[in-house]
Amino acid sequence: MTAPARARSSADLIRAEEPVLAHNYHPLPVVVARAEGTWVEDVEGRRYLDMLAGYSALNFGHRHPVLIEAAHRQLDRLTLTSRAFHNDQLAEFAERLVALTGLDMMLPMNTGAEAVESGIKVARKWAYDVKGVPADRATIVVAAENFHGRTTTIVSFSTDETARAGFGPFTPGFRIVPYNDLAALEAAVDESTAAVLLEPIQGEAGVIIPDDGYLAGVRELTRRTGCLLIADEIQSGLGRTGRTLAVEHEGVVPDVLLLGKALGGGIVPVSAVVARREVLSVLHPGEHGSTFGGNPLAAAVGSAVVGLLESGEYQRRATELGVVLRGGLKSLVGRGVVDFRARGLWAGVDIDPAIGTGREISERLMREGVLVKDTHGSTIRLAPPLTITGAELESALETLEKVLARGV
Ligand SMILES: *Cc1c(COP(=O)(O)O)cnc(C)c1O
Repeated sequence: MTAPARARSSADLIRAEEPVLAHNYHPLPVVVARAEGTWVEDVEGRRYLDMLAGYSALNFGHRHPVLIEAAHRQLDRLTLTSRAFHNDQLAEFAERLVALTGLDMMLPMNTGAEAVESGIKVARKWAYDVKGVPADRATIVVAAENFHGRTTTIVSFSTDETARAGFGPFTPGFRIVPYNDLAALEAAVDESTAAVLLEPIQGEAGVIIPDDGYLAGVRELTRRTGCLLIADEIQSGLGRTGRTLAVEHEGVVPDVLLLGKALGGGIVPVSAVVARREVLSVLHPGEHGSTFGGNPLAAAVGSAVVGLLESGEYQRRATELGVVLRGGLKSLVGRGVVDFRARGLWAGVDIDPAIGTGREISERLMREGVLVKDTHGSTIRLAPPLTITGAELESALETLEKVLARGV
């Protein structure tokens, strides 16, 4: 008999990763072993309040009982069929998702980047088949400072040199304009334009909220000029901003909606392109696909996620607790916080660079039992699970106050 393996410490596990794991991330030095709701626990049993929520993939917290129950039930019956056959979970997921979003049809994929890629393909096909753009001439207009994922085509239209450098040659067909600038957008749109692709709020850029009227203006412009509006709500959607979709704050309905992250309930990767019938019906058998897209486990979890959003409870919580978040951050302006942007339970907080980089602040918060992540420079992002209580949120804000008061 071999002795049971000795439990490895956090420090051991961090050291063990170094030679065997690609270094494409720089995680905070915390090794999470279990989690429940708003709380995660590391290998040594230390507890942390999760104020990042998997970049909004955990909008309903860790292991939400309704989602875990749906996953367990499905695991015990059927997990994968491929789309060579129908499965008994996908119809309901699609029906509920199109009803929730007010659109007509959906295309199930897995990761966010795949939803973006699929949205680009659908928009190009629509441009050729419906709009009549000459073959291979379609353009898509995007915003500077965007984040839409990591594939070669998507980094082709990134303006982040770290994300691009060394990965060329790049995919042509994209025009980049400044975000929140309607005139620049109008100048870039012409007969070749298949679509305008935007985040309604730019998450990775630091939770950048455009001026009131911008999104409605983009909607009017795309309608008037006859191109599609693709809203990437992979991070902003599904309750985060106090509405099911961030575009609802301006009464905007996009032609194509990209969802991911929270759609998988923090359990499995689930993404979707949701669109008007005229747009998604450009796809015919064999023209696009995914082995795992629409698998019954993903569909069962996705349906349960939509179920949680149907009552409006989480959107309401995000709105109400968003007031607490804004109030707390407002009181810190001039006391370590230079500026912040917030909507619902989502904030980008610019820390006084004299106090530390976003990374340093994140590490200090971690040592005080609060997990956040920097975006870049001295900006940190707060995006707690929408299940967070008022008391937990207050305590996270107090910890931030304490860390900032300590200064450099
Ligand atoms: C995270 C994210 C993506 C990419 O999603 P992955 O699942 O990481 O591929 C795309 N768009 C936005 C707005 C995101 O936040």
